[in-house]
Amino acid sequence: MDQQVQRRREMELDMRRAFASSEFELHYQPLVDIASDKISGFEALLRWPHPGKGKISPAEFIPLAEEIGLIGPIGEWVLREACNEAVNWPSEIKVAVNLSPVQFRSRNLVQVVISALANSGLAPTRLELEITESVFLAETEANLAILHQLRELGVSISLDDFGTGYSSLSYLRSFPFDKIKIDRSFVKDLAKPSDCGAIVRAISGLGRSLNITTTAEGVETTEQLDWLRAEGCNEVQGFLFSGARPSVEVGQLLVRFGARASKAA
Ligand code: C2E
Ligand code: MG
Ligand code: MG
Repeated sequence: MDQQVQRRREMELDMRRAFASSEFELHYQPLVDIASDKISGFEALLRWPHPGKGKISPAEFIPLAEEIGLIGPIGEWVLREACNEAVNWPSEIKVAVNLSPVQFRSRNLVQVVISALANSGLAPTRLELEITESVFLAETEANLAILHQLRELGVSISLDDFGTGYSSLSYLRSFPFDKIKIDRSFVKDLAKPSDCGAIVRAISGLGRSLNITTTAEGVETTEQLDWLRAEGCNEVQGFLFSGARPSVEVGQLLVRFGARASKAA
């Protein structure tokens, strides 16, 4: 127990130090439109290349950042950094940023988004904010009001990790989401005999009827891609195309996947 507390405390101090000394990086993973076979945007994913411990997964450090109140400043940095990068990309390419439910508690989230857009000059229509169902678990009304304010700015709202949470369908009624991201766990076994095909088909159909874009996460094989195309999924993201890469590689990725490489090109 003592050891665990000690380790956590060390990691906490380490993370505060890392943030203060700009150790965190943002990498970008392409989102590919299935119909045109072109990159439609990039998801910004946080990376912590630790000087002593190597790469630490966001799945490990984000929950701690949420616990110790560091997700506010980190999340704000992510938003600013992502907008500043995206403004240099071709104008049809969007950027997606993950928001933690804890950021909704601060009550200045809308202001932070307004400021990140204004300072970067990025058009609000090029920013997608990804939230998970957990945003609706507490303070539902207040959080819904924030989501509506964000959408009024012109940014779009995606529901991430869809299907892994609670009573997903009621959330689709409570807010007009622009995009549903089908969780990787359903994509993983698509090409194998499993229930995943039926689930993906149902979610794609739901998206189509509700006029919500569907994006499949974690696409690693061409078999999975063929399945997703056949099921009418709109967009894919996964190692089949590329993992998250540093911003300097965005131009190369755009060339590889057929879009204009830069504003100047
Ligand atoms: P997420 O938002 O669902 O992001 C997708 C995760 O799936 C990323 O993991 C990505 O690297 C991984 N992934 C993408 N394609 C594939 C694939 O083909 N196969 C496999 N096995 N994995 C794939 P990552 O970067 O480790 O991030 C994990 C989670 O941490 C994210 O899940 C998101 O919830 C959170 N996260 C990352 N960056 C941020 C951030 O800036 N802010 C907040 N609040 N959360 C973040
Ligand atoms: Mg995400
Ligand atoms: Mg996800």
